[in-house]
Amino acid sequence: MHKRIIRKPKSISNRLEVVASRLRDLFGVPVRKRRLPDPLDLLVATILSQNTNDINSHKAYLNLKSRYPDFMDLAVARPREVERLIKVGGIANKKSKTIVAVVAQIQKKFAGFEKRKLRRENRDTLIDLLTELNGVGYKTASCVALFALGDDDAFPVDTHVHRVLNRLGIVCQKTPDKTYLAVRDSIPKGMGFEIHLNLIKFGRKVCTAQKPRCYECVLFDVCDWKEKNLGAEKKAPVADEDKIQFMLLEEV
Ligand code: SF4
Repeated sequence: MHKRIIRKPKSISNRLEVVASRLRDLFGVPVRKRRLPDPLDLLVATILSQNTNDINSHKAYLNLKSRYPDFMDLAVARPREVERLIKVGGIANKKSKTIVAVVAQIQKKFAGFEKRKLRRENRDTLIDLLTELNGVGYKTASCVALFALGDDDAFPVDTHVHRVLNRLGIVCQKTPDKTYLAVRDSIPKGMGFEIHLNLIKFGRKVCTAQKPRCYECVLFDVCDWKEKNLGAEKKAPVADEDKIQFMLLEEV
């Protein structure tokens, strides 16, 4: 009888579990800081981190914090002064206006922006509330849930996470926001923190934007990216039996 191997599609959640397991072997389990950051501090820090590196965004954050120890005071700050303080972080003109406007909206809309109050909201409701603020997108909102509120089912999608999930073929989406909407209900329970951080590390070190290191990739055999073989040359790792976890083999 003629035999054929069929690769059955698996759910997003199943595929993320496999990715999580491989990346855990590679990078370990990321550890949370013992004390979670304040939600408003985290929100402002996330806006500052856009389109810059970690060092410059941290410098901008410290400059801002030294002048405004309580970020709620930014609601009445002059954008020009904020711009001067965060200049080192890049696109300060735009970020300063966004930060002042977002904090002013928070002051009006939320009766307190403390962890205790925010945790009373269901995650999707909270993310909807936050994304109604001009200047806050899904990534920033889910960063607040994941990092400041300790919600391990939240899953921010940044440029690295978006790129890797699309190359792997787990989703087929054009923007990080669309990728977020496609995966947010499929994150394996309690694993948002681990998968998010390990995917970012993987996107920075292995599956980079310009020259992905497919030849040494632990996800090579489960990656759908058509161009992976170009970068793999002859160094592609041979998939051993227990690595082929996406594939359900069936004889027909
Ligand atoms: S095989 Fe290449 S494209 Fe696919 S996940 Fe690995 S590094 Fe990225």
